[in-house]
Amino acid sequence: MPIPKWTIKGIVDDYDTCGCCGRRGLKRTVALMPLDADGNEDGTAEDVAYYGTACAATALGWTQGKVTDTARAAQAQQDQRDAQARRMISIYAPVEFAPVWDQASVYYGRNHGQRDTGVRATDEVAKLLAEARAQLADTTTGPARPSRIEDFRRYVVIFTRDRRVYLVQHLSDDEAERQAQGDAAVRRTEEIRGSLAVVAALDSESARDVAYADDLTRRWNAHAWQAAHA
Ligand SMILES: [Zn+2]
Repeated sequence: MPIPKWTIKGIVDDYDTCGCCGRRGLKRTVALMPLDADGNEDGTAEDVAYYGTACAATALGWTQGKVTDTARAAQAQQDQRDAQARRMISIYAPVEFAPVWDQASVYYGRNHGQRDTGVRATDEVAKLLAEARAQLADTTTGPARPSRIEDFRRYVVIFTRDRRVYLVQHLSDDEAERQAQGDAAVRRTEEIRGSLAVVAALDSESARDVAYADDLTRRWNAHAWQAAHA
C-alpha cells in the first residue's frame, strides 16, 4: 500500500474555500498536513492545506464518510490538547517567576513521584509552559487561542461540604454585577455549608483545577491576577 501524502489534523470552520479545486462557500474544510516519504509530518501550520471533504477524500483515496469521521476525531484530540494546555498555564504560569522553592513545591505537589528523582521542577515547569503555549498558538485548525495571564478570567468555585465542586461561575467584569454574583455565591455556600474560592484561569475547567490546588498554588494565582490588573 502506498504511504498517504497527507494526515488529517482537524476540521476548520474559518476557511470556506477548498485549497484543491477552489470551490467556495463550503461549511467547513479539513486541515491536511503533508507527510514525508516515511509518513512523518512534514511541515508547520503554514504548510497545512485546507480541502473540502470531497477533494480530501480523493487526495487520500478514502470515502467522504471516513474523511469526516477522521477529521472529527482529530479535532476532538486538538480540543483536548487545548484544554490540557489551558490547565497547565492556569496552574503554572503564575509561578513561572516565583522563587525556585515555591515553584518546586507547586510542581512536586502535583507530581509526587518525581520528587528526589533528579527531575528539576524549574525545567519541567518551563517545558510544560512552552508546550502549552505552543499548543494554543498553533493555527492549524483555527486562530491562536488566549494563553497569557492577562487573558485569565475570574471564577468563583463553590465546594460542597465533602469538597466536591458544586458550581463554577465566571465573575462578571462589571463591578455591580460581580458584587451581586459574590453575594449570591456566599449565600449559596452557607446554604449548602460548603466552602468557596475565587480563582483566575483561562477557562472554567482550569478554574476547577486551580480551586482544588494547594494553598501555595492559589496564593500565586491570586498574586498573578492582582499583578495583571494593578
Ligand atoms: Zn475541492
